[in-house]
Amino acid sequence: MEAPQFKDFAKTMTDFIAEYLENIRDRRVLPTVQPGYLRPLIPEEAPEKPDQWQDVMADIERVIMPGVTHWHSPKFHAYFPTANSYPAIVADMLSGAIACIGFTWIASPACTELEVEMLNWLGKMIDLPKEFLACSGGKGGGVIQGTASEATLVALLGAKARTMEKVKAEHPDWDESTIRSKLVGYCSAQAHSSVERAGLLGGVQLRLIKADSENRLRGEALEDAIKEDIAAGKIPFYVVATLGTTNSCAFDYLDEIGPVGNKYNVWVHVDAAYAGSAFICPEYRHYMKGIETADSFNFNPHKWMLVNFDCSAMWLKEPEWVVNAFNVDPLYLKHDQQGAAPDYRHWQIPLGRRFRALKLWFVLRLYGVENLQAHIRRHCGFAKQFADLCSNDERFEIIGKVQMGLVCFRLKGSNELNEKLLKRINGRGKIHMVPSKINDVYFIRMAVCSRFTVSEDMVYSWTEVSAAADEELLTNGN
Ligand code: PLP
Repeated sequence: MEAPQFKDFAKTMTDFIAEYLENIRDRRVLPTVQPGYLRPLIPEEAPEKPDQWQDVMADIERVIMPGVTHWHSPKFHAYFPTANSYPAIVADMLSGAIACIGFTWIASPACTELEVEMLNWLGKMIDLPKEFLACSGGKGGGVIQGTASEATLVALLGAKARTMEKVKAEHPDWDESTIRSKLVGYCSAQAHSSVERAGLLGGVQLRLIKADSENRLRGEALEDAIKEDIAAGKIPFYVVATLGTTNSCAFDYLDEIGPVGNKYNVWVHVDAAYAGSAFICPEYRHYMKGIETADSFNFNPHKWMLVNFDCSAMWLKEPEWVVNAFNVDPLYLKHDQQGAAPDYRHWQIPLGRRFRALKLWFVLRLYGVENLQAHIRRHCGFAKQFADLCSNDERFEIIGKVQMGLVCFRLKGSNELNEKLLKRINGRGKIHMVPSKINDVYFIRMAVCSRFTVSEDMVYSWTEVSAAADEELLTNGN
């Protein structure tokens, strides 16, 4: 393809994207296709001779759209939001055009330097202690990881390196595998599954600690577990505090967990994958109390801050533990300016990395902090609106507190009844939600996800839930 065709193709695609997004609420949120639907719709082999771009465009509605779940529809309430905005889409176009692989500073200086600056901007927006920022004059700094799961794993590996070095100095006669087998990390039983997985990938034991009656991990429970493990000859080295759990958006007591972690030389990592975006609003920052005790902090602008996937922001007070943990230095990756700026290949699992800072830059500049704050506040308001509608129907109960943009609710009655209700809600095809379960209580999660959501959408979604409940209760003869 040459530039003239590219311009026509890209202009046509831009029109398509704008039409798609602006009219997304008219599409059925969940597709009705069955597994294997796509194969018969395309040829069995790649074309020998090139197709026309117009043919490709035509196939988007024919082949792709029937199998798309419309995550940006105001009728999509599953999981947590994933972000989407025009500035981020355009930035991804430019990133695709520059197409550098910014693993070292010299591999594309702008890629590294914009990332450093954007992580400073973003860190200041959420009022992170200056020890985390690269502009503090200290050692700290930020990096864009692909996902929160990677950030959790990277922090675990940094924590492991730090503790291994300390224990080796204290016990020169212990070999590495002996030390490794004694390491134990901690998180709440409510933490995301990626934390447990980081333990598996890092080859260390990870202990899940019971949260309190509000699903929040307390410092005392952590300290009891640490003391028990030390008495059994183990070496506590890592704890993850979750701010905004996936199940119910509960907030661990970071101000209790952090001091316990510091007391026992345990690396404190904070996973605020979803809720962290809300910390750009001062009124939500009380949830971060104790942040000064953390070693690393992570949240996903690609969830709730209008930066398209993938953009997971991570800050470390002492990145050198991570940098040294992964440091393999072949000659072909060395350069003359080494040490003067971060070589981000040392801060992450893969070598290659895209120019992801561009989309943060575009979004922060073209929305401005005040519009990003307004976006968060609107979503939190919609969640309250939905919760009020639900509370006014005495057949239903709200589970836990309504925190941020998530409402957890259920019909008063058995888990089975609620499983059937959710099947009916999703089966009607108008809205989409997913369930969760805490302490054997099954409930339904309503996450406000779309940036196109307006108040009427909440009424629509509630009316759907209510109608599905009418049907279910009638069928069950209640
Ligand atoms: N941590 C929490 C609290 C989450 O809610 C999620 C996903 O929803 C994750 C981690 C995993 O995020 P990612 O897909 O970026 O790895």
